[in-house]
Amino acid sequence: MNLVLATNNAHKLTEIREMLSDLDINVLSLNDIDFHQDIEETENTLRGNAFLKAQYIADRYPYPVLADDSGLEVDVLDGAPGVYSARYAGPPRDDNANMDKLLSNLKEIEMDKRSSRFVAVLAFVDKDVKESFRGVVEGKIAKEKTGSAGFGYDPIFIPDGYSESFAVLGEDIKNGMSHRKHAVEKLKVFLKEYLGKH
Ligand code: IMP
Repeated sequence: MNLVLATNNAHKLTEIREMLSDLDINVLSLNDIDFHQDIEETENTLRGNAFLKAQYIADRYPYPVLADDSGLEVDVLDGAPGVYSARYAGPPRDDNANMDKLLSNLKEIEMDKRSSRFVAVLAFVDKDVKESFRGVVEGKIAKEKTGSAGFGYDPIFIPDGYSESFAVLGEDIKNGMSHRKHAVEKLKVFLKEYLGKH
């Protein structure tokens, strides 16, 4: 089965492709289908934006589509930056500026009050079939940036059970426990059955 992954984020494409590599699925990028625009994320939930992106492509191309929307929720900030994670300090999207803004907003907050989580929602759309899958990884926001692996807020996110950031731990450890990994696990249970029927 061909499946379009509706993201322009090369990291997400690599992560999800790798996670689906044991299924009989050919993951196509937006580049592969010659789609080069940015789909504006106008919804105010991760699920809403994931479906918006998947549906936009599904309406225009003859393939099943998967889209992802993800963000970082910080408890002491009432869940911010949340759905606005990518452009917290923008626009434009700027990972470093986003982290600086978050670190500055948490300047007075001690480590035991810096709990947060990454959340990912995957939306699958194929003709009249619409399903979504949610994954979470709990952790806390570090006091400073460390490491260079990954993307986004990885240098300041320390997952529970570890003392280093995702950007120090590296992609193998991150991809084994990330929010996207948990969402993809749920997706794979669904896709195995779906592949059997289509
Ligand atoms: P999206 O590309 O609209 O889903 O934006 C998600 C934003 O949330 C990204 O730009 C990052 O800032 C942040 N984010 C989502 N997943 C991750 C991750 O795995 N690591 C670091 N930051 C992430």
